[in-house]
Amino acid sequence: MALVVMKFGGSSVEDADKIKFVARKIIAKKKAGNKIIVVVSAPGDTTDDLLEMADKITSNPLAREMDMLLATGEIISISLLAMAIDSMGEKVISMTGPQAGITADAGYMRARIKKINPKKIKDQLAKNSIVVVAGFQALNPKGDITTLGRGGSDLTAVALVAALEADFCEIYSDVEGVYTTDPRVVKDAKKIDCISYDEMLEMAGSGAQVLQPRSVEVAKKFGVEIHSRSTFSENQGTIITSEEKIRRKKMESLLVSGITFDKNQVKFTIIDLPDVPGVAAKIFGRLAKIGVNVDMIIQSAAVDKKNDISFTVSKQDIKKTQMELDKITIEFKVANVVCDEHVAKVSVVGIGMKSNVGVAAQMFEILYKKGINIEMISTSEIKISCIVDELDMVKAVKELHKSFGLSKKKYETL
Ligand code: ADP
Ligand code: ASP
Ligand code: MG
Repeated sequence: MALVVMKFGGSSVEDADKIKFVARKIIAKKKAGNKIIVVVSAPGDTTDDLLEMADKITSNPLAREMDMLLATGEIISISLLAMAIDSMGEKVISMTGPQAGITADAGYMRARIKKINPKKIKDQLAKNSIVVVAGFQALNPKGDITTLGRGGSDLTAVALVAALEADFCEIYSDVEGVYTTDPRVVKDAKKIDCISYDEMLEMAGSGAQVLQPRSVEVAKKFGVEIHSRSTFSENQGTIITSEEKIRRKKMESLLVSGITFDKNQVKFTIIDLPDVPGVAAKIFGRLAKIGVNVDMIIQSAAVDKKNDISFTVSKQDIKKTQMELDKITIEFKVANVVCDEHVAKVSVVGIGMKSNVGVAAQMFEILYKKGINIEMISTSEIKISCIVDELDMVKAVKELHKSFGLSKKKYETL
């Protein structure tokens, strides 16, 4: 008898009909001879709605209360789903993250799972119950409920698979798996049959919302193979697994596996900073201290012992960054900080880049031919990212997708 963790995203449980549909799907899997743990997200846009509601109350909410609020979304889903499963005659119990034994570090809102004590879940599985766990939440050392960052239900699912040594990790969403780019933006995007943890990590980290980056990191660490698939079809989705396993199955390593984009970017430029040692350390040290995650950074060559530094942060960190930069500019006696909210990041990801030079040049050429200006560039072993004007983002994604031959590529199945 296999132990299966099935995770359903918000769009899969957004109304009563979908909750009943998901309940039937879970019961069918149980009746096929499996033990089932279900992880669910908040229904539909509930988390966004709660954030919006809080913003109408205060622009500076207490992190503890924010987590208390956000955790309610997933509790709606677990209780309604458990009611649906029970009404269909199956044994079921819902659990919040804390009830499921999931504990996290001291942070709020982007807490990290520290440990899972699976005793309660195991007891219920032994009683033949389906266990429905609220994703995205845990108990911190102060005894408070805390949340695991946006998309954190994926992390709950992967962490439960690791802790309970489950046999399968199935992440159900409103798309059939991981595509060469967002299928809502590029109609001829192709489903990828199998992708390595590292590529998935880069894709998720650069905007492919289908999996939370941290969940992929944890999956890689514990060797959890993820099957990303659709709630609304029985088709095989995408397997996220190790590079070795993909190589063993003799799958071809594509030069470029996917194109991603991220509109959630803001570019700050500090002009005329003194060109002396320690300036960058001070600026980025201070931003790190207040919890701002800086993504891309460029520093211009010095002219007259002065230079400019540009960097990007995510949109939700604008206010915090602006306030800290106001203080820093006074300290450095710098007058000018420019904030550009109309930028987007476009990235090309592929493990084949490791052994193939020229992908960056090809990317720049494609953008140049379409008249798209590149404002910033960053590279890793298997990813190249460019900051462009947000108005050029979709054009850039479509052109890169086409020019790297992704719409025509065939993928083998693992
Ligand atoms: P869930 O609510 O199930 O967690 P999400 O909204 O978090 O689902 O993620 C699914 C969405 O991710 C899809 O609807 C799709 O628009 C988006 N997406 C972005 N990039 C990709 C990609 N490369 N492959 C598949 N989906 C993608
Ligand atoms: N409900 C949370 C969010 O919207 C967690 C999740 O969906 O995974 O980010
Ligand atoms: Mg999600």
